[in-house]
Amino acid sequence: MSLTTFFSGGTIKRMAELRADTDLLASALKDSTTGFIAVWKSRCVVVNNAAALLDYAELGTAWQPETGIYLGQLDEQHIFAVELPDDLGDSGPGEQAFENFRGILGDLPEDDAALLAYAKGMVEWHGRHRYCGVCGSPNMSVEGGFVLECTGPDCDHRSFPRLDPAVIVLTIDGDRCLLGRQVQWPEGRYSTIAGFMEPGESLEDSVRREVKEETDIEVGKVHYMGSQPWPFPTAVMIGFHAEAVSNVIHRNDGELADAGWFKREAIAAGNIVLPPVTSIAFRLIEHWFDQWDGPRLADLKLSGDFSRRTGERT
Ligand SMILES: [Zn+2]
Repeated sequence: MSLTTFFSGGTIKRMAELRADTDLLASALKDSTTGFIAVWKSRCVVVNNAAALLDYAELGTAWQPETGIYLGQLDEQHIFAVELPDDLGDSGPGEQAFENFRGILGDLPEDDAALLAYAKGMVEWHGRHRYCGVCGSPNMSVEGGFVLECTGPDCDHRSFPRLDPAVIVLTIDGDRCLLGRQVQWPEGRYSTIAGFMEPGESLEDSVRREVKEETDIEVGKVHYMGSQPWPFPTAVMIGFHAEAVSNVIHRNDGELADAGWFKREAIAAGNIVLPPVTSIAFRLIEHWFDQWDGPRLADLKLSGDFSRRTGERT
């Protein structure tokens, strides 16, 4: 089983074999045909609901070329991600050119959303690793930006792009599923159970622990359904269906304001708001929900807006 998810399946060729070719990348960086994804304060440039590729001249002079991150090629065009400084100066794109990534997601073609998520994820990893975690010296970007190398005299620590794996699970008990509402969510909004993995856990361990912590439900069999990059900032959501082996809900850890078992008829009645259609949470619910003779979940238009506060770490 593998669900199709938003942010994944981008068509850029990453060309990892070119990352060590410093001469080629230095030349590509200055080439007038090269495209740049500019990221400023976690915002991106979008024109006519499409990711905008700027050229070198359009970036202005306020940024440092050695911080450019080589993303790969779209067709034959080299693509870099660059972080522009908080003070944009007046030579490059102005503040008004940048859009809040979360706010525009619902309008973007899937391939553009995947490209911006990739660029934003890399830039934000750089932003959180400016210094070596071992000795505190400044890091230097090497290998096309995919390695941050410590510049300290007696330290050879290298950092690699960081992902935060999280499990997300729809627990099923016969003809009903388990949904919860986080404390900070709008009234009526319900979704699957999710949480970050912890060291020393398998994926299945994480699923069982999260469901138990948040609802006290015991989970038996766990079925992998698909995954989704979640660029707020660098999570990857690993999605499951799970079979409940108990059914009495008790909210153990206070993370949820409410949790309950929902039949398809209750969901179809429109009494709750579901997560955005672009989220793997929606896909997990939809895959279960659509196994009946009633209406398709996507046709019921029960999803919340993507720009609504959804509670995940940002
Ligand atoms: Zn160091």
